[in-house]
Amino acid sequence: MTYDVGIIGSGPAGLSAAIYAKRANLSAVVIEKEYEGTGQIAESGQVDNYLGLPGISGYDLGEQFREHAVKFGVSFLEQEVTEIKKEDSAVFTIIFEDGSSVETKTVIYAAGATPRRANIPGEQEYSGKGVSYCAICDGSFYRGKKVAVLGGGDTALDDAVYLADLAEQVYVIHRRKEFRGAATTVEKLRKKENVTFVLEHQVKEITGAEKVNGVVLENGTAIAVDGVFVAYGSVPQTNLVKELVILDAAGYVKAEETGETSLAGLYVAGDVRTKKLRQVVTAVSDGANAATAVVEYLK
Ligand code: NAP
Repeated sequence: MTYDVGIIGSGPAGLSAAIYAKRANLSAVVIEKEYEGTGQIAESGQVDNYLGLPGISGYDLGEQFREHAVKFGVSFLEQEVTEIKKEDSAVFTIIFEDGSSVETKTVIYAAGATPRRANIPGEQEYSGKGVSYCAICDGSFYRGKKVAVLGGGDTALDDAVYLADLAEQVYVIHRRKEFRGAATTVEKLRKKENVTFVLEHQVKEITGAEKVNGVVLENGTAIAVDGVFVAYGSVPQTNLVKELVILDAAGYVKAEETGETSLAGLYVAGDVRTKKLRQVVTAVSDGANAATAVVEYLK
């Protein structure tokens, strides 16, 4: 069987695409590496900016998206994609790690992004031993302890808010005076007695013995902490498509509003594509747009 569309990624963008594809009567399959929550959103604490659901947790929002897709009869395939091929024909072959494959007339690539590493000494060595990229996942290990949050975007600020309720002390270490994240969250943090801003400084090393015991700033100042949460944004997951489509200078897949890329039949949706605002609401709308464009393309 050749599916009308293979959707790679089961975050908000992929699931939204799948619902639109099903409602348009396309044969669709959502391919996910392993089901462990609905993409990056599952790791967010409270989501306050998704219309109609103020205050919902990221995990619950993701689960509701998935239930919606399941209810509409979306098919899921748990496989790791190793290659996407489009040779002379109009058909894509999506190849999996176990050597099997599926054929699809179109692909919606919604693989999202992964956390950007700090690339400093100690980071890799202490990953999982005090270095984390997910405050919601690992925060509870630091109850009554000292932690550093690195970065000045919304993720860093939200992580600091979450951690301030658990940890004894939270240092927010950011390389500039201005924050990229929401001013309201900065205000909230300024009112917390156990939050210290370390601005215009960058961490050059994470130190430890068996586990993390501190960070060292570029000026040599050492700060003792038990945990380091790196919140330096994310990197688009483009390995599977970078040889097939045109990327922008930052490595995101160049795409039209419709998700259309430089390769006919291959569409992108969500954090992996060029756009200004990477949030759940824009991922969901990308999925809808891409599936609608696929319907037109198949006609
Ligand atoms: P981001 O906005 O790209 O912020 C990354 C932060 O890390 C920036 O402050 C950046 O510093 C810093 N940084 C990056 N590389 C660095 C390095 N090598 N050394 C030192 N600092 C470094 O990423 P994000 O916070 O993950 O947010 C991504 C998107 O998701 C944004 O659109 C954000 O609004 C959205 N988001 C929204 C919410 C919410 O609405 N509640 C929550 C999470 C994320 P500079 O500022 O100096 O560049």
